[in-house]
Amino acid sequence: MMTIQRSHIISMGVIETNCFLIYNEFTKGCIIIDAGEDAQAVIDKVTTLDLRPELLINTHGHFDHIAADDIIREKYKIPLAIHELEVPLLSDPYKNASVMTERDVKIKNAEILLQEKEYKASFCSYSVIHTPGHTLGSVCIAAGKWLFSGDTLFTGSIGRTDFPTGSMSMMKKSLEKLKKLDKDTEVFAGHGTFTTIGNELAKNIYLR
Ligand SMILES: [Zn+2]
Ligand SMILES: [Zn+2]
Repeated sequence: MMTIQRSHIISMGVIETNCFLIYNEFTKGCIIIDAGEDAQAVIDKVTTLDLRPELLINTHGHFDHIAADDIIREKYKIPLAIHELEVPLLSDPYKNASVMTERDVKIKNAEILLQEKEYKASFCSYSVIHTPGHTLGSVCIAAGKWLFSGDTLFTGSIGRTDFPTGSMSMMKKSLEKLKKLDKDTEVFAGHGTFTTIGNELAKNIYLR
């Protein structure tokens, strides 16, 4: 029986960004991946599902993924986890690209600095895969057969590498890591529709 569930919120900010909730349907323990820009939408979903968030993880530090972080952390009294190399983006509107919008995004420092290894939540374990390329501290989160790929891998495409700390050569190495995952791994990207590693190996020219 499947007790670990997944839910999805599309953040209606400047850019449509996917926020994910992974949770145990019995204990109601919940991890939020990328709060996005719309804190109220996340809170509404958590309330509807009667969840108890215990951790907020950012796949990387761009404003469209982090803008709601502080409201969500304050609301649920939970720590923020982000890769150690991504910390400078949280408080810097230039680095997190919010200077391109009308609102400067500055997020308080993270409590948990992620490294490439396995972590345990109350109801599941998950692995952090360091995938620099879109940004230096970009990560993908692997939990069971799911991969939350942030802005590294999209359906039919990959994230841009022309933002600060981006690198096409690093991106290529990061994609090599993802190519080794099981073909039936379901991929949930930071933007757009969902896919599988098998589908992307077959159709995504960046995984050739
Ligand atoms: Zn991004
Ligand atoms: Zn993004």
